[in-house]
Amino acid sequence: MNLNATQAQTTAQISYTVSFPEAQAHYAEVEMHVTGLKQNTLDLKMPVWTPGSYLVREFAKNIEAFNATVNGKIVASPKLNKNTWHIITKGVAAVTVKYRVYANEVSVRTSYIDVSHAFLSTSGIFIYPANMLHAPATITLTPYKDWAKVSTSLEMVNGNPFVRHSPNFDILFDSPIEVGNQDVFGFDVDGVKYEVCMYGGGNYDKERVKKDMHAIIEQEAAVFGENPNKHYTFIIHNHLRGGGGIEHLSSTVLGVSRDNYGTEKGYQGFLGLVAHEHFHLWNVKRLRPIVLGPFDYDNENYTTNLWIAEGFTEYYQEIAVRRTKLYSPENYLGQMANEFNVLENLPGKDVQTVAESSFDAWIKGYRPNENSNNTTISYYTKGAIIGMMLDLEIINNSGQKHNLDDVMKYMYTTYYKTKKRGYTDAEFKKGFEMFAGKKLDDFYKKYVNGLDPVDYDKYLGYAGYKTVNELADNNDAALGITTATTAAKKVIVSGVTRGTAGYIDGINVGDEITAIDGNPITDASTMLTGKTPGDKIQVTVSRDGQTIVLPVTLLKNNRVKYKIVSIESPSTQQLAVRKKWLSL
Ligand SMILES: [Zn+2]
Repeated sequence: MNLNATQAQTTAQISYTVSFPEAQAHYAEVEMHVTGLKQNTLDLKMPVWTPGSYLVREFAKNIEAFNATVNGKIVASPKLNKNTWHIITKGVAAVTVKYRVYANEVSVRTSYIDVSHAFLSTSGIFIYPANMLHAPATITLTPYKDWAKVSTSLEMVNGNPFVRHSPNFDILFDSPIEVGNQDVFGFDVDGVKYEVCMYGGGNYDKERVKKDMHAIIEQEAAVFGENPNKHYTFIIHNHLRGGGGIEHLSSTVLGVSRDNYGTEKGYQGFLGLVAHEHFHLWNVKRLRPIVLGPFDYDNENYTTNLWIAEGFTEYYQEIAVRRTKLYSPENYLGQMANEFNVLENLPGKDVQTVAESSFDAWIKGYRPNENSNNTTISYYTKGAIIGMMLDLEIINNSGQKHNLDDVMKYMYTTYYKTKKRGYTDAEFKKGFEMFAGKKLDDFYKKYVNGLDPVDYDKYLGYAGYKTVNELADNNDAALGITTATTAAKKVIVSGVTRGTAGYIDGINVGDEITAIDGNPITDASTMLTGKTPGDKIQVTVSRDGQTIVLPVTLLKNNRVKYKIVSIESPSTQQLAVRKKWLSL
């Protein structure tokens, strides 16, 4: 953005009214007033993506009935491109724009409106004047029927919950808004006001949720040495099957299955999600890769560092909960072993580096297809593993004086607080090296920018642990495919893993497996009963309406399932590293 042009236009005042007269049909009606204009044309834009979710979602696709009024008359507002409307203002000071937004996509990153509530993911609701991202705005919400509550981190105007102020558009696009009759409760953590807004019901125990969230928040703030918000809002959507989360500057949106609170596993997943999204208020919202802010709302914003922004957040989500003592150390080690298993069972680990996985999130991670497991990895998974490796390296090399927390705090203080900008890849590497007390060129070459197999036992060994593959003695035969069985008992291939018998001998995604050695198949789980590696079988498939018989030579199932166990007789040094790592 051109700063001088920006400064010249700071006099405009912007306000919005959002109403929901057709909530039952998933519509919001937006009226925007811009006054104080001193220009001949006004371009209005809608972001194509929402920060935190690295996919171009084309929010303008949901806009209809766009019209602009100048001096009481509707004027032309032709589109210049997919997300820009152009209005000739000829020096008039005020323009009013109206449009409708269709909001019928349930997710934490998209807007959804029905008669029970409105969830406004703001980057898909509010258009903004080009070159005025710095401008403040007022938002007035006109609720549908009996909606009585608003939950958002945007400040109230004159104590009215339905009128909110946004200091600039970066903050507006980072402040989702929930309107309806949600269950709202709160608590304080060291002077910061936390508000929890539960939509959709659910069997949560309010007091337990408050207590456990409080403990997690304290542990996370301790990593960075401060909590930069005055207040923070958890917007939690409880659905029959809910999932996912998205981070914002002073709030987050979580998707939860409403009966998850009732089981230990489900509740643990909920706490992990809380810990993950809340940790982001530092890691990525403030301590951030240099390209992730100020954002370009028109295009993809590329970074090779999502393994830090997301992967380390994944690592800390488990570490933070472990530090609250809500998990046992064994439980924590089980979570880490799961990360190993996810990575090790992906052929993509030999194809895509974690830096490439970050960079291509826009076209690969967020746009998976049937071949993704063969060609990509998740920067969440490998990033969390790298977080663990570096944490252990630093603890071990510093004589337990430091850990990864010191790097996070140093980087936050240096780049967010002091330099007031994001970090480069080289700068974060230097931060690691400072606390690890050694150069990490070789580490980066192998694990960040390279495809070397992860040496789990070297890093776990610092803490007196090692991995054991529980399937090492397994001699089962496998096709190396995943299948889905339809209601009509058709077994359809949904994935083929590179290097397996199915891959080598030509089974394809989409094939219907009708018979093996001439015996009809209706149950994928018993297809290979009695078979061993090396057996030659005939797989009959239906492909594009034709029957094909594929000769297949079965191979051994090469999947791994690691667990982390203590070595026999760990040394004093190893036990000291273990104590620091797992907060024993
Ligand atoms: Zn995340």
